Amino acid sequence: AELDTLDLVVLAAILLGTLAYFTKGTYWGVVKDPYANAFANANGAKAGRTRNIVEKMDESSKNCVIFYGSQTGTAEDYASRLAKEGKGRFGLETMVADLEEYDFDNLDTLPADKVVMFVLATYGEGEPTDNAVEFYEFITADDVALSEGGDPALGNLNYVAFGLGNNTYEHYNSMVRNVDKALQKLGAHRIGDAGEGDDGAGTMEEDFLAWKDPMWAALVTKMGLEEREAVYEPTFDIVDRDNLTRDSPEVYLGEPNKMHLDGTAKGPFNAHNPYIAPIVDSRELFAAKDRNCIHMDIDVSGSNLAYQTGDHIAIWPTNPGEEVDRFLDVIGLTAKRDNVISVKALEPTAKVPFPTPTTFDAIVRYHLEICAPVSRQFVSTLAAFAPTDDIKAEMSRLGNDKDYFQQKTSPHFYNIARLLAAVGKGEKWTNIPFSAFIEGLTKLQPRYYSISSSSLVQPKKISITAVVESQMIPARDEPFRGVATNYLMALKQKQNGDPNPEPFGGSYELDGPRNKYDGIHVPVHVRHSNFKLPSDPAKPIIMIGPGTGVAPFRGFVQERAKQARDGVDVGRTLLFFGCRKRAEDFMYESEWEDCKKALGDKFEMVTAFSREGGKKVYVQHRLKERAKEVNELLTQKAFFYVCGDAANMAREVNTVLAQIIAEGRGVSEQKGEEVVKHMRSANQYQEDVW
Ligand code: FAD
Repeated sequence: AELDTLDLVVLAAILLGTLAYFTKGTYWGVVKDPYANAFANANGAKAGRTRNIVEKMDESSKNCVIFYGSQTGTAEDYASRLAKEGKGRFGLETMVADLEEYDFDNLDTLPADKVVMFVLATYGEGEPTDNAVEFYEFITADDVALSEGGDPALGNLNYVAFGLGNNTYEHYNSMVRNVDKALQKLGAHRIGDAGEGDDGAGTMEEDFLAWKDPMWAALVTKMGLEEREAVYEPTFDIVDRDNLTRDSPEVYLGEPNKMHLDGTAKGPFNAHNPYIAPIVDSRELFAAKDRNCIHMDIDVSGSNLAYQTGDHIAIWPTNPGEEVDRFLDVIGLTAKRDNVISVKALEPTAKVPFPTPTTFDAIVRYHLEICAPVSRQFVSTLAAFAPTDDIKAEMSRLGNDKDYFQQKTSPHFYNIARLLAAVGKGEKWTNIPFSAFIEGLTKLQPRYYSISSSSLVQPKKISITAVVESQMIPARDEPFRGVATNYLMALKQKQNGDPNPEPFGGSYELDGPRNKYDGIHVPVHVRHSNFKLPSDPAKPIIMIGPGTGVAPFRGFVQERAKQARDGVDVGRTLLFFGCRKRAEDFMYESEWEDCKKALGDKFEMVTAFSREGGKKVYVQHRLKERAKEVNELLTQKAFFYVCGDAANMAREVNTVLAQIIAEGRGVSEQKGEEVVKHMRSANQYQEDVW
């Protein structure tokens, strides 16, 4: 008998289905794996994914989307926590979304029975985070281009807002404030207050926790929700891959994406795709034995990475082995550390934050921020998995009582493993689902450094100047140490063949996954900044850079010295630098002298040594002593730059400058403040502070 058309269609469908089944994990895996193609990732244009949020929510049956604008991972982490809590406590169908991955012109078609949450960090001088730039420009535009554009345009939109900011910066939490204002203007309805977390006061986590409870209460009323007993539901499935070992070529051992795994890494190099750069030189800048500051030259000539004087370089650290061991030990995974697993999202909108199949060791070493301070909310979550009832009671108390938590944890600088070990008193925490750590810990973040070289002088060699984070804390018999700076220090020690590398530093896996970083390499990318020299080199500049704050000014002065040598007319170049003692931590002393030879009287370095005389002298005092000249230079449109400590120095310099202007021009201090504000908005006053 002949096959008729219907039979053919059915047969073809069966064949295709079979083929698809057998090729699953090879062809499909490639298409679906977000780490497969760093180009797509880099551009936020993930293959086959919709940018239509209304459609996305419909097809995945969601009624609550939590958008985040995040630079260092905290806002993203808070967004995940809200999603988890909304689902666990109130049965909301939540999803988390990166602002960069959606369009917003159809927000007005989102039905009123859905809710949109915004968790928005403010970056630098009141700027949106990189992933929120487009959204911010869209929503704050004078003429917001919505698809249907009824009146009020967003009358159907119910939203919730929380901002992450730092009160030591001029434009405190301006992202959430401006977005909130813009949404209100468009007729959207806010549920609860717009929350504001303050990193400057060190209260971010507590501000978030204090904000969210009344917000949930308001949301419950508004949307008619019912609270239920929250039970933990994992977001990720951890699947054993018994057929694979850590030596199988498809297993990720810390490689950030598929190209790195295959050894075909190529640009563009960016926040999703680092360049494994050779370190050509590294050395110590301080003479003092108890403090370290590292100068490093990183060669980017093998890549298409480019930078401009004043930009930032991001260093992708790995966690120290000592802390990786501690972490795996306390949760009872030491014996299984090299077991191969795949991590699968249990619901379609969740994203696995690293590529798999991989090992527990690689996840903990390369992808999770295991050394960071512990979140009180996470302690609450983990209480359910305590090894004994006593330990559970203590964990719950820590999780629920803000003051008790503060008193018990902050003197110790606990990270999660140290806290679990201390509370567990020797018991292992073997009941915690590994998914909880992937959900509850931030993704390991690159650290930024102000590039301390000039792109005119060394376009393919990026310098950094980093002070090593190490502080003795009374509650502990060893110092607290920062992740990235001790990683850099370990690299420096290795490069210089240090016969007795510091044991902690020695525990870093410096050769990287599969020895791919061998021969002293470090993963990096470049982030462009607005901290820039005037385009006209004849303009005078005033720079304030105590300590490592001098980093970008090494680049600025290098650049001007080269211009002077090349016969360019260079303006007055005045640098205020401060440190403890000339003989101890005065960085780059001989280099400044070389620049002086090139620049002559154009260049002057004013120094403040805080521990040399009886009275402590800081850069702001020296600035005041030079009031007359500073005011004169400003009237000649000098650019004014501040770099370094955001908490105190930058603020005091601002105040002193306002006084200088007030006195010099015979106006009130208030007027002086206004002049400085005006300079800021005209980019005549620029800050690079952290
Ligand atoms: P981390 O491990 O990140 O720790 C940093 C701090 O967090 C610690 O000092 C501590 O206060 C706190 N902390 C961490 N873990 C815990 C815990 N478990 N308990 C309690 N507290 C904890 N730095 C430079 O030296 N030079 C530069 O030129 C420079 N430029 C920068 C430019 C920009 C734009 C930015 C944003 C930052 C810059 N920094 C610079 C700072 C740098 O990015 C890093 O923050 C710094 O080097 C510390 O990194 P780390 O990984 O060693 O420390």
